[in-house]
Amino acid sequence: MSSRFEIIKNIVEVCHKLEAKGFVAATDGNVSARLPNGNILTTPASLNKGFVRAEDLVEVTVEGKLVSKQGKPSSEIGMHLFIYRERKDVNAVVHAHPVYATAFAAARKEISVKAFPEVLVAIGRIPLAEYATPSTGEVADSLQPFVQHHEAVLLMNHGAVTYGGNVWEAYFRMEKVEHAAHIQITAQALEGIQELSPEQIKKLSDISYSSYGKVISQSIINSK
Ligand SMILES: [Zn+2]
Repeated sequence: MSSRFEIIKNIVEVCHKLEAKGFVAATDGNVSARLPNGNILTTPASLNKGFVRAEDLVEVTVEGKLVSKQGKPSSEIGMHLFIYRERKDVNAVVHAHPVYATAFAAARKEISVKAFPEVLVAIGRIPLAEYATPSTGEVADSLQPFVQHHEAVLLMNHGAVTYGGNVWEAYFRMEKVEHAAHIQITAQALEGIQELSPEQIKKLSDISYSSYGKVISQSIINSK
C-alpha cells in the first residue's frame, strides 16, 4: 500500500482532475482512500473538487467515527464506508456525476459494454443500481447486489461510483465509464453502436486471460 503522504497527494490530484474534466459541478462528487492505519481519508462536505487541498481531507474510522479534530466528511461517506467494509481489496472510491454516464443513469439504461473491447476487459459489466436518495443509507443498500463483483456502478438518476486498489485505479475506471458513455451517445447519431458477437467476446476473453489472467464473465457473453 502507498504511504499516507502519497495517498493524500493522489486524492488531491484526482479531485483536481475530476473538476478539470467536468465530471462534477459545484461541490458534487467525493473521493476517499484507505490509509495504512486502516482508517479512511475522505474529501470534506461542500467543497468544490478543484479547490481541495491536503489539509481539507477528513479522516474517519471504517465505522464512520470522526478521527480528524475538525472538518465534516463528505455527505456520501456512508456509501464509501460500505464499499470498504464489503471489499477488503478496495483502497479507494471515486463518486462523480460525469455528464454522459449520468445521462445513462438518468435514462435508466446500462452502457452497452459489449461494444467496447477494452471496457469489457478492464471493467466488465457496469450495472445500474436502483434509485436511492443521495447521501442517505439507501445508496449503500442499492450497491449491495453489485459490490462484490463489480468495480464501476451507475447510480440511477444520480451519477456513478468506481473503486479499486488505489486512487488512480478508481479514478481511471471513472474516466473509462464516462468515455464509453460518451461514445455510445455519440454513436446514436450514426444509428447506434454495434456490439461484439459471442465469438468475438470469447476470443477477447482468451487474450485477456493469457495477458492478465482475467476472463470475461459468461454472464456478460450470454446477456442480451
Ligand atoms: Zn452524488
